[in-house]
Amino acid sequence: MLTDYHLHLRPDEPDTPPERYFTAENVDRYLEAAREAGIAELGVSEHVYRFTQALDLWRHPFWEEQARDDLDAYCEFVRSTPLRLGIECDFVPGAEDRTASLLEARDFDYVVGSVHFVGERAVDHEGWDVWERKGDADEVWSRYFEALAECARAGLFDILAHPDLVKVWGSARPLPQRDPRHYYEPAVEAIAESGIAVEVSTAGLRKPVDEIYPARAFAEMCVEAGAPFALSSDAHLPEQVGFGYERAIEFLGDLGVNEICVFEGRRRRLEPLGAPSVRED
Ligand SMILES: [Zn+2]
Ligand SMILES: [Zn+2]
Repeated sequence: MLTDYHLHLRPDEPDTPPERYFTAENVDRYLEAAREAGIAELGVSEHVYRFTQALDLWRHPFWEEQARDDLDAYCEFVRSTPLRLGIECDFVPGAEDRTASLLEARDFDYVVGSVHFVGERAVDHEGWDVWERKGDADEVWSRYFEALAECARAGLFDILAHPDLVKVWGSARPLPQRDPRHYYEPAVEAIAESGIAVEVSTAGLRKPVDEIYPARAFAEMCVEAGAPFALSSDAHLPEQVGFGYERAIEFLGDLGVNEICVFEGRRRRLEPLGAPSVRED
């Protein structure tokens, strides 16, 4: 079995209205790409902040600018397709109850929990770059992985997205001096306690860091802690479905992981990890 659960039907750009991307034709392009890549389980997880309902969780200016669409119309559309229904939901500290209400009111198959922001600044967004104001790598990495731990522990999410996203810029931003395992530790402890699935995401291979999320050392600590893994590409275009899966499958194999998580109705089961079909990326 191969899965691709963390998918977006449109790029993270302005002027990407639902009427152009939430269409049967666009979904067919994703399904076709999945078929070619031998991916049996395909689900979509649009960013929560693109929906007006997200403003109940957070009123960050970026969210105010992005929240345009209706969440229920999205759910209804995805249910009219063969795709599993997911959502990528940011962990917003202090908004746990409101987040739970938003998620429980809809029949998602799974919820991908993300940390993109540390306080008011983002680790992966140039417009809100955390590194502009805080050049201190030790502080940024510590705060990021503490937020990730809280995200895992919140009990709101099924999959912990791109677990070491803070590395996204690679050497283009300051990197801490100490062994990164020092930063991973609180997050891995929270992962173990919560039982959340850890995402292996090939999105990092399309970013300046040019590495799978999470780093090998992080993944080893998760294996040690007994965490299950979920496999995704975080595609924003049909061409990115299953992107870099040969490398992800090798990565998981090297860790001795031979099962991945499959979700339906927010229930999880493990299936044997499949082999990739040969495909030119
Ligand atoms: Zn994300
Ligand atoms: Zn995403």
